[in-house]
Amino acid sequence: MCRSSATLFYGVWVRSWSLAFAADAYDKIQPTLLAIDLIARRWRDGKLEVEEQERNTTARDLPGEVWELVKQELIDFALAEQAAVHLAYYRCPSCTHALGQSTEDKTRQYQVLRTEAWEIKDVWTSWDDLRCKRCIKWVGGSPFYWMQEPGRSRKVNRLLSSFGLCMPSVVPYKEDSQKIESPELSPVALKLESSLSGRFPEVDTDLCRQEFSNCATSNTYAFEASALSLPADVDYRFRRLIQTYRLRVVDPTMSTIVPLSELQPPSSDISATRQTTAEQEEPFAEAEPRWMLWSFASVCW
Ligand SMILES: [Zn+2]
Ligand SMILES: [Zn+2]
Repeated sequence: MCRSSATLFYGVWVRSWSLAFAADAYDKIQPTLLAIDLIARRWRDGKLEVEEQERNTTARDLPGEVWELVKQELIDFALAEQAAVHLAYYRCPSCTHALGQSTEDKTRQYQVLRTEAWEIKDVWTSWDDLRCKRCIKWVGGSPFYWMQEPGRSRKVNRLLSSFGLCMPSVVPYKEDSQKIESPELSPVALKLESSLSGRFPEVDTDLCRQEFSNCATSNTYAFEASALSLPADVDYRFRRLIQTYRLRVVDPTMSTIVPLSELQPPSSDISATRQTTAEQEEPFAEAEPRWMLWSFASVCW
């Protein structure tokens, strides 16, 4: 579709896979998390009924923080499970074979597996390090598009809304859409709503629907001043989400819009505004949500 959009949001960018795994994990363990919250609340209120146990320590004696630790342990386990399931799904035959997980059929299909020496150190085992060139090629035929998998965005928004946040768009941010190694990022934002669509406001123009002769169009939205004021706990909500669900925050911003008085003198070093690639990859020391303006355009082929 020939389309362009601009989105103003208060939030962060995270690696799409980390958000996808968080959403899938949350979908699986949400009933258990709710049950733990219920037990913890009864414990706080002194209403927790436990059967007499032989051991000296019972659930009644547990300190409050233990419930949070139990929940975190459960979440981490579910996240690791999602990462492993998706690694197994996307891994190339060589990596699968090196791990001893190849099937007879695969070995017959890929004769090279019998002779090649694929070392364990070459095997792709972490989403933070897509190290196997063959895996990159293997998955390269079908770029990820994590958020466009059926049901995924619904799961993501269910997780995010428990923090009062949302995913404004399923469209990924990719610095280079042709490169599989180029990280796919997804926006996580404070909820906003367009009075026109009832959805997150994307100022959208769709040229395919225009008359053939008309190849330019425009669109404008206004902001109510209160839409731009931030809730007092907003940064805390982002921080809690990112820490609890181990989201990988990435900063793809090219420059920062500042008031006139704060403009740097023109002689200032370029590197001060455009971070190096290595620095970009660093997660924020603490979650650092902010206002960002994101533009996106695509054409039909
Ligand atoms: Zn078109
Ligand atoms: Zn591989």
